[in-house]
Amino acid sequence: MSQEVLRHLVMLGPPGSGKGTQATILSEKLGINAISTGSLLRHEAESGSKEGEKIKKLIDKGNLVPDTIMINIMKQTLLKPENLKGYILDGSPRSVPQAKALDKMLASRQMKKLGQALDAVLYLQVPDDYVIERIIGRFQCANCKTLYHERFKPTKVFGICDVCEHKEFIRREDDTYETVVSRLRNFREITAPLVPYYEKRGLLRCVDGTGPIDVVSEKIRKIVGY
Ligand code: ADP
Ligand code: ZN
Repeated sequence: MSQEVLRHLVMLGPPGSGKGTQATILSEKLGINAISTGSLLRHEAESGSKEGEKIKKLIDKGNLVPDTIMINIMKQTLLKPENLKGYILDGSPRSVPQAKALDKMLASRQMKKLGQALDAVLYLQVPDDYVIERIIGRFQCANCKTLYHERFKPTKVFGICDVCEHKEFIRREDDTYETVVSRLRNFREITAPLVPYYEKRGLLRCVDGTGPIDVVSEKIRKIVGY
């Protein structure tokens, strides 16, 4: 019997574990949106709003944004018509209170009716020294935002985006060694408790994230069932 394809997913893992990379691949394969709360926040941070300024200060130091702000953003996002086919949450929830709030929200009559209950949490397991190297070397096309890595995923032609042929690239301001160390500490202290939390609910699926990108995505394909 063929398994039903899982379409309501959370990506969990330390910064640099490959959540964004794998969420993008899944999004293409499943035809549903990868929702990076990090990029939603960075967008807000650059908007110049008062809330955005507060967010920017926190992100630039490698700190987390308050749960209330995150929960609001997640709710608005999951109610958007284009996300009713399913979702891949990348970067949220990031703390037990956020996960509890997400559970509560998904258990509401409105969300149940919309069929938005979570199917699985994909936990990308990668040791600290890997993620440091991955983060320090990562960059993005300034136009189409495709993710690259100096060593692991360079552009095919130097200085030209594979996807859109743009010639400008950006790096995240918080992708410095110092910030990565603080983000890793945050992950261990605040986010890692989500592993037992989702395990208890029978939703956790562990994925060894140390291999090359296509090896990891093949492991995920088997779990998700597409
Ligand atoms: P996250 O979203 O978890 O912070 P990313 O998806 O941005 O992580 O990945 C971090 C960096 O590592 C990116 O530059 C990406 O191209 C690279 N990367 C992602 N997955 C792998 C992998 N399996 N092997 C090597 N490099 C990878
Ligand atoms: Zn591009």
